[in-house]
Amino acid sequence: MNYKLILDEIGFEISSLDDEGVVASYIPELAKISPNKFGIHFYKLGGNNFGIGNNQEKFSIQSISKVLSLCLAFTIEGDNLWKRVGVEPSGNSFNSLFQLEYEKGIPRNPFINAGAIVICDILVSRLENPKNEFLKFIRKIAENDQINSNSQVVKSEKRTGFRNAALINLMKSFGNIENDSDEVLDLYYCICSIEMTCQELAKTFLLFANNGIIPSTKEKIISKSYSKRINAIMQTCGFYDEAGEFSFKVGLPGKSGVGGGIVAIHPKNFSVAVWSPKLNKKGNSVKGIKALELLTTKSELSIF
Ligand code: GLU
Repeated sequence: MNYKLILDEIGFEISSLDDEGVVASYIPELAKISPNKFGIHFYKLGGNNFGIGNNQEKFSIQSISKVLSLCLAFTIEGDNLWKRVGVEPSGNSFNSLFQLEYEKGIPRNPFINAGAIVICDILVSRLENPKNEFLKFIRKIAENDQINSNSQVVKSEKRTGFRNAALINLMKSFGNIENDSDEVLDLYYCICSIEMTCQELAKTFLLFANNGIIPSTKEKIISKSYSKRINAIMQTCGFYDEAGEFSFKVGLPGKSGVGGGIVAIHPKNFSVAVWSPKLNKKGNSVKGIKALELLTTKSELSIF
């Protein structure tokens, strides 16, 4: 299959699309990004990689990093994790409070904000220096020591993170947060503010296409079973309240973030990352979803 040609066709078709969506502005630093950026990068497992557009430009991966923090916590905590966070789609927005009240402080899944904050609480309890150890962990998977979080975005998130403060305090009142709220949120914002290019992101996520093993170094990061479970959560919970629509249109496990990035994998086959900052009402990149829909349509490679 000529993946390079497919990407070129996608780039051409995307460029003629209507300019829909809005850049996230509730984190003021994200609102500064040029809305017209578009990049996509594709990694074939055991093969070549190709990219087009702004595929080499760093962007805020935001909630996509929740897959990586889940992965680290899963290696440390194993299945005990699921006593504190569920694996069901929420059917609500990513920062919703009312379901959490109703379900007594146990978040529906690790990819909504409340669930990712519980994961951060676990990392704070278990790791001596969670920020450094998280960075070390993702740099190893990415095979790239230049991966960092953006301190301006961290500050911007802290200044405006009123709902996250409400979520953590509500969970603390139910006994589902062990540590100091500010310390946990500090780690959470550091994790959300990680920056990567589409190429770096697609390469990092090859791990989940390869049964938990880094393809080039052959290092096993998580078991095959854990990798499969993380992919299952991506499939059912990776797109806020739009996971069904994404499954329907694209048919791959993946995760999006409010920075406009989406990463998706085809187990045993490929990893792909796309970035376009304008989001639809559900918080997913408009052109990102369209590009991936075109990819699985043209290649006939969805998991279904
Ligand atoms: N840092 C963002 C927040 O806490 C993450 C949102 C997202 O990408 O879903 O709201």
